[in-house]
Amino acid sequence: MNDVTLSFRGLEPRESTSWSYGARVAGSEALEEQYTLAQRTYNNMVEVTRQALAAFNEWFAEKDPEIARLGTEIERLGAQWAEAKARDDRDELARIAAERRPLRQQWYERCFAVRKDNRGEVNALLKQWVGSAKESRLYLARVEAVKAGLYWATATAVMTAVQRAWDKQFPRLRPVAFSRRSEKRRETLVVQFTESGGVAMETLHTKHGGLWIEPPGEGLLSAWANGRRPGRPDRYLRFRMRIGGRGREGVYVEGSVQMVRPVPEGARVMMARLVRERVATRYRYQLQLVLRLAEPLSIPAEDKAPRVALDIGWYYEAGRGRRVIAYTAGANEDAVEQIYLDPSIDEAFDRVDDMNSRRSLARDDVTIALRCCQWDGAPEALAEALSAINRLPVAHVSPARLAQMVWLWREHHGDYRPDVLEELWAWRRWDKKLYETSAHLRRRTAGRRKKFYEGWARHFASRYATIVVVRPDLREAAMVKNAISGEHTALTARARQGRVRAALYEFLNVVATKAAEAGSVVIELTGRTTTECSACGEIMVVPEDNPATRLLVCHACGVSHDREANSAVLAFRVLDDEASVTKGLAHAQEKADKARERRYKRRTAMRDARWKDEQTTTSGQ
Ligand SMILES: [Zn+2]
Repeated sequence: MNDVTLSFRGLEPRESTSWSYGARVAGSEALEEQYTLAQRTYNNMVEVTRQALAAFNEWFAEKDPEIARLGTEIERLGAQWAEAKARDDRDELARIAAERRPLRQQWYERCFAVRKDNRGEVNALLKQWVGSAKESRLYLARVEAVKAGLYWATATAVMTAVQRAWDKQFPRLRPVAFSRRSEKRRETLVVQFTESGGVAMETLHTKHGGLWIEPPGEGLLSAWANGRRPGRPDRYLRFRMRIGGRGREGVYVEGSVQMVRPVPEGARVMMARLVRERVATRYRYQLQLVLRLAEPLSIPAEDKAPRVALDIGWYYEAGRGRRVIAYTAGANEDAVEQIYLDPSIDEAFDRVDDMNSRRSLARDDVTIALRCCQWDGAPEALAEALSAINRLPVAHVSPARLAQMVWLWREHHGDYRPDVLEELWAWRRWDKKLYETSAHLRRRTAGRRKKFYEGWARHFASRYATIVVVRPDLREAAMVKNAISGEHTALTARARQGRVRAALYEFLNVVATKAAEAGSVVIELTGRTTTECSACGEIMVVPEDNPATRLLVCHACGVSHDREANSAVLAFRVLDDEASVTKGLAHAQEKADKARERRYKRRTAMRDARWKDEQTTTSGQ
């Protein structure tokens, strides 16, 4: 097992965290206006970043004439591309793409070189366009937004989001994407507490300008004290949050928030967010509190066992459900326990898939029927929408696109072919209902799965000092071999579906979080074979006709193994080599400390900047 890589997670105790509570909010014009302004501001700021990118491109071309030449070539091909696309000339499109690819590569490499040779100028340009300082173009857009009525704290949050998107795209010289509201699922409004170090929860209960939450009653307090989930009437607390206005004239939103758990003792509230999420056609709200913790979160646990090893997978076992985790706290297979996702979770996902495939089938029918009709005398806008749909391959026509066309028809051309329209409208109602039901079910099921994982993550973090995890993509590597021999399509498609359903990265993330809170260490293993026999060390052969089999037999010693259990045991034993683990751990700890220090410095600088900014913003109003 010399090819094993260990990586350590969960070494940094968290000093801040954000807690979300479900909320009910009375919709209002002011609320709608703020969300709309936030959305518009985001796009205005994206526009600024696009101008910035154009400015950079010009600057590159000035620095290096070859970049200018390549740029012109790429543009010329772009124009040809558009023409070919209009003709739907696939061969031509492929030819242009092939010609353009190396040009783009050269262009990119040269730009990169220019950037590297002119760091100082690049930084000056960045500062001028997308920096946080007052003179930057992005900041000017923020000032405009605040003038237009967007609350300053939300404006700052939007600016940070755009800067983050820019930081991601700029290294590749790609433009930041505009946000289309129809595709956006989450929207956020922010209250920020400018008191240095945030405010105590008690302050929010008595009186605070930004956010007020009703003090918890007797019933809720006793539920919290006893670690129970509070009952329905107790857990709803009224709240009022400032979402806009200038100076003393605040604009507020009111509602109730479900305080199912108290914030940790001594935590300070740095910021509050009202997050609105669209689920099908309804909105769901969350009140998020960003907390700075008095001390790193920790789950009290004495006498932790030294370690546990987890092998995670997504194999579905009929009748029992999906087997997601095999874990062991001992070095032999008898100690291995298996964890199954409740079968009802897979059943629910099956229902979601089924609804979606029914929608696709109906979409096929409708699209094909539209293609067979004659559209003589159709109003122009409608004819255009129809021909756009007809040009696409059937499978590329989204139900949403069809629905839009139907809506246009009904809204503006209701007297044209009312018989067809009536049928289409019936389809649209059916499709919409199905979409809403499936979106709702998917979300609810994902929520259940998350809770399940959190429970187990807490279990491991509170009982074991070290958690060894075998990363799931390793098994994939074992399957590739068999994939080459053919007959893999159905298998990999099913494996992919299982992987998505098991959402094991979600589990890995919560394990890391809970471990950090509990002071446990997560060690991830990569690069090892899962087919080594845990009894004798021989590599076992996976039968070619059944590569996904759970049962492996060792031909050297004759012992048969459950694949996951075997793998968990191997993972448990890796740490027997104590010297290398101690060394790796020390190294990882050092890296984590450095990262924390860097982050702390950056955060302090950011907070200072924001604080100054808020002083001037409010005093200027
Ligand atoms: Zn063996």
